[in-house]
Amino acid sequence: MRQFQQDGLVYYKFDNFDDDALDHAIFSRKGGSSKGPYASLNLGGTNGDDPNAVLANHEKLFSVFGRPYSSRFDVWQVHGKTIFFSEAPRPPGKKHLPADGIFTDKPEVTLIMRFADCVPLVFHDPVQKVVGIVHAGWQGTLLRIGAEAVSAIQQRYGSLASDLSVGLGPSICGKCYQVGEEVRQQFLKAWGAEAEQFFTKQENGLFLDIWEANEWVLKQAGVAQIENSRCCTAENLDTWYSYRKEKGITGRFAVVIALK
Ligand SMILES: [Zn+2]
Repeated sequence: MRQFQQDGLVYYKFDNFDDDALDHAIFSRKGGSSKGPYASLNLGGTNGDDPNAVLANHEKLFSVFGRPYSSRFDVWQVHGKTIFFSEAPRPPGKKHLPADGIFTDKPEVTLIMRFADCVPLVFHDPVQKVVGIVHAGWQGTLLRIGAEAVSAIQQRYGSLASDLSVGLGPSICGKCYQVGEEVRQQFLKAWGAEAEQFFTKQENGLFLDIWEANEWVLKQAGVAQIENSRCCTAENLDTWYSYRKEKGITGRFAVVIALK
């Protein structure tokens, strides 16, 4: 990833994405208005932060991103595998739909999703001109949401897996993501013995490598161009929010993407 700074905000871009075709950014927690555990560019509206600060953060983010706040499309992220196709921005006051993958082929739409440990899978199809973001925590990963997205955009837009470029944004790494045995059992049940390779037993517990698991899902679906930021949220609290490391009382950082 490449790092950028503007008006106190620090954001990153994947190396593989074409800046001529799209605008995208992964905004770190730096440079916003929120205080305390939410400091400072928290984009989450349901985690206990001051709503005025969250709104100010959104407005600042969109100003730096160079697109109107009114162009945004976002959803209520629920750890499922529903993929939604956005034809237009979300009108003010209209409720969020529950979904964990959002895609668009409309340049007037700016997609935004919120993260704190779950894996952001950021999609670009330069041939059919489609962009998208997928939210993959362990539950979405178990449901192979990355592959669901590949299949969904193939049906909707005619996208070919071999044309796709996918970036894995900052999220919790396999050394930090401790999970219970019941999680491993669910993976073994759904994926068979293949799932074993993504779990490591240490003296202090069981750990899931959610990066490798998502890469595996994407490769199985035919995606060849994958860029993994390999940036761990739990190990870099000055830059990212970590739901696990900060014991649930924290903000959400934003991933934003739009076609030019
Ligand atoms: Zn880590």
